[in-house]
Amino acid sequence: MKLSVIDRAIAQYADLSDPEAAFRLKLLAPILRETAKIADDLPENAMEAELPDAEAVEALRRGADPIMTTGGVKLSAAVFADVVARLAAVHEEALRAEEFNVADIDWTLFASDDAVALLSRDPEAFLTDAVEAALAAGMPEDVVDVQLIPVLSMAVRAMLTDYAEAVSDKLASGEDPVVDFERRLSCPVCGSEAAMAVVGPTARSGNVKQLCCLRCGSHWKFERIRCAHCGDEAVSDLRYIHDEADQDHRLHVCADCGETTPTVFVSGTFEQVSPDVEAVVLGALEAAWREAEAAKAEEEGAKA
Ligand SMILES: [Zn+2]
Ligand SMILES: [Zn+2]
Repeated sequence: MKLSVIDRAIAQYADLSDPEAAFRLKLLAPILRETAKIADDLPENAMEAELPDAEAVEALRRGADPIMTTGGVKLSAAVFADVVARLAAVHEEALRAEEFNVADIDWTLFASDDAVALLSRDPEAFLTDAVEAALAAGMPEDVVDVQLIPVLSMAVRAMLTDYAEAVSDKLASGEDPVVDFERRLSCPVCGSEAAMAVVGPTARSGNVKQLCCLRCGSHWKFERIRCAHCGDEAVSDLRYIHDEADQDHRLHVCADCGETTPTVFVSGTFEQVSPDVEAVVLGALEAAWREAEAAKAEEEGAKA
């Protein structure tokens, strides 16, 4: 997660035609930039974790349990508390600038020893627990959506992204271009589902698809024609949809499970892509598609 890459991506999408995506990008730009800065300068005691050796890397490629679920990562609660405080300050300022009502959140509740122990094993469960606890304590849903979730998820990311990227580099290097196994669906580092995919050229094996985990920042190679959610490989079940005017941003739609994988096609290297910024741009396409599908279903319901 490089600040220069994020800045270039934000500048590239300065004139987004979808007003909602443009607004989201403007709102999230400060916290994305701060996350990259924090990740770049994380104190050494932020985490205890080893990089997997060659054998473990091969096992991860073949679907071994994610590193974090097996206890391979221990995060510091004190460092996490600092990271949350820094990101909360930056994001709350951005929200105020757009005239959101900013709630007075006691962020230390989310950085207790217990919470960070859970985070170290299962970031997805940590976030689910945090949201449930906040709602149970009476936090309004819109505050949860625009204030709590962005701050906590980017704090998780700031802690993990350097490590996740280092693991991803190990997974990518020295791999045979032709493999005799099906690639993994869940993130090798934290176990989350992939949020999106990037298709782009590589020096060795032509155009390659990588799935990206925005939870920890990892990415891993994946089959071009395969659903990232259910693993379906039937060509007839899978199709790309996109806007006439934009061939680069597409949704990979699976008729088998009904899920979509936002996918960006790039001409440069993976290192020049900001998955976080692309995810916002792709979010607009996904929202429009879901709206159209809902309208279609309603029309069919009216006919029946
Ligand atoms: Zn992950
Ligand atoms: Zn599927």
